[in-house]
Amino acid sequence: MDKRKLLEELKSAILKDLSLPLRESNLVFGEGNPDAEVVFIGEAPGFYEDREGRPFVGQAGKLLNKLIEEVGWQRDQVYITNIIKRRPPANRDPLPEEIKAYEPYLKTQIEILNPKIIAPLGRFGMNYFLPYAKISKDQGQIFWSEDRLIYPLYHPAAALRATMVLEELKKSFQRLPQLVKDFDNLLGEREIKPEAIAAPETEQTKLF
Ligand code: URA
Repeated sequence: MDKRKLLEELKSAILKDLSLPLRESNLVFGEGNPDAEVVFIGEAPGFYEDREGRPFVGQAGKLLNKLIEEVGWQRDQVYITNIIKRRPPANRDPLPEEIKAYEPYLKTQIEILNPKIIAPLGRFGMNYFLPYAKISKDQGQIFWSEDRLIYPLYHPAAALRATMVLEELKKSFQRLPQLVKDFDNLLGEREIKPEAIAAPETEQTKLF
């Protein structure tokens, strides 16, 4: 079936699911090109996203648009969504049970989009794919989830608060077009970094 149709069906399924948390907020499903090679995944919608029903339309979104354009792309060429599809009250961090509740929908959304590269924006997006990764150490590094390249980036909101973070985010963003071009070679030579995916070994587990 056509990807757009499958995404519409998924959106309707979320709207109908009365077991989901945060239903007092509006659904921010995600938007962009369903055939995008790169999908950006943020944390959760904020005030402006909730109001417009679209991801990344506030200040962080303006910076994201600028970064996308600076690498020669347009926003509508890529796909943008969040881990959590509705705004937590007062923009608090998403709770583990909220992430878990929306997880089956995110998983299906990714399966439908089937991108080559997922660029999680910020800690929450990154830790969904790489539970033990650390944003300051692992942003701009290449990881794999099956045949998908995971390329964690700093959250644009964090970059708006600190010049050093903005510089790092810009530098990592600049590599994106080359990663798309090199994808097949990278896939062939991929190296799994288990420390970001599995729990670090403790003295106890090392004995066995
Ligand atoms: N921050 C996010 O993580 N997602 C949005 O959609 C907007 C701000």
